[in-house]
Amino acid sequence: MRCEIIAVGTELLMGQITNTNARDIARELLSLGVGVYYQTVVGDNEERLTEVVKRAMERADLIVFSGGLGPTDDDLTRDTVARVLGISMEKNEEWEKKLLEFFSRFKTPFAENNLRQTMIPRGALMLPNDRGTAPGIFLEKGRYTFVLLPGPPREMLPMLRAQVIPLLKKKLETSGELAVLQSRILHVIGLGESLLVEKLKDILDTQDNPTIAPLAKGTEVHLRLTAHGRFPGEVQALLTQKAEEIKSVLGDYVYGEDEDTLELAVARLLKAKGKTLALAESCTGGLLTHRLTNIPGSSEYLLSGLVTYSNEAKVNFLGVDPVSIQSKGAVSAEVAAEMSAGVRRVCGADISLSITGIAGPGGDTPQKPVGLTYISLEAENFSLTRKYQFWGSRVEIKERAAQAALYLLRRFLLDKLKEE
Ligand code: ATP
Repeated sequence: MRCEIIAVGTELLMGQITNTNARDIARELLSLGVGVYYQTVVGDNEERLTEVVKRAMERADLIVFSGGLGPTDDDLTRDTVARVLGISMEKNEEWEKKLLEFFSRFKTPFAENNLRQTMIPRGALMLPNDRGTAPGIFLEKGRYTFVLLPGPPREMLPMLRAQVIPLLKKKLETSGELAVLQSRILHVIGLGESLLVEKLKDILDTQDNPTIAPLAKGTEVHLRLTAHGRFPGEVQALLTQKAEEIKSVLGDYVYGEDEDTLELAVARLLKAKGKTLALAESCTGGLLTHRLTNIPGSSEYLLSGLVTYSNEAKVNFLGVDPVSIQSKGAVSAEVAAEMSAGVRRVCGADISLSITGIAGPGGDTPQKPVGLTYISLEAENFSLTRKYQFWGSRVEIKERAAQAALYLLRRFLLDKLKEE
């Protein structure tokens, strides 16, 4: 089923209101696996509306309208659709009764033109409106389904959800077209969005089902795969196949799927390798330890996370040489390396990580700007210290530093660091 949404209203064309209805209708239809191929906006003009309806009938089977159902002369949707289809209008007694009751209950003077809203195309289904005076209309003719919804979102959305979606669902079920639509997210780290798109060019260029959408998410890129089919098993198989294809191109750059986090990926590797870990943090204030301890069962591999914030703490708890701090500064490659060596020795861990940096604002010098950070990793016969220049607010710098440390640890556990 191919759908076109037609939003009717001169205010939309003039930019006085935003077409939120088209967005909401498209989202709801997507949940049924119905693809919206076109969205059109047209003013309250009979000639142009007629043209748009005819055009939509050339390229869609399901045509959903929003707006133009009110009582005034510029509310043209009902009559125009009926005219294009060659269907006459008839009074809907049920809605007339409701409308008259409504006006007498609220003691509102009844304007005759309200009765226009009781007229619906012959053979169409009237969709009661609990929040307004214009009912919706559901009309089937040949291969076409026309859905006419009122413009005000507070009337349109409940009618769409409670009445239209179930009707469409039933129709799709009967015709065997009801689709299952599911997504899977692949988490990519270490590759920027543009590089990733370049690597996946062939796959992206030929994408069909699933579709693939890259989204930049902080220091990661998420690839959202969306597939449709008739059965959940079939859709899952399509997603798995495409995910594997992508992973075979990106390799270890993909660290997880859906709810996975980088710390979870690292935790899995530590457990698989049976390695223990100790952390010494300065500027991140325990954030790295916090993230790793969010994973249930982290005591299996995490021995300790020390927050050695002051110079004294670095010296007293980790055995950092005061001379290094004095000559190179607390934020230096030397001190980072001594921190990771110290915490590994003190805790007896297989692997250690340390972070020291300037989270700002302030505390910087021309040689050591805000965001300058050193991360050091030590293991048996292995030691590596990296210099980073992060940017952003204090909290963002802390987050980026913790993320970079996890990334470094993951590369080490995958035996990738030695190659660099
Ligand atoms: P009414 O009975 O109120 O006349 P209607 O079905 O004729 O309803 P319109 O007159 O086209 O609808 O629009 C009524 C109001 O609904 C607009 O002023 C606007 O606030 C809102 N509206 C209409 N179309 C949209 C749209 N596509 N997206 C968001 N809001 C809309």
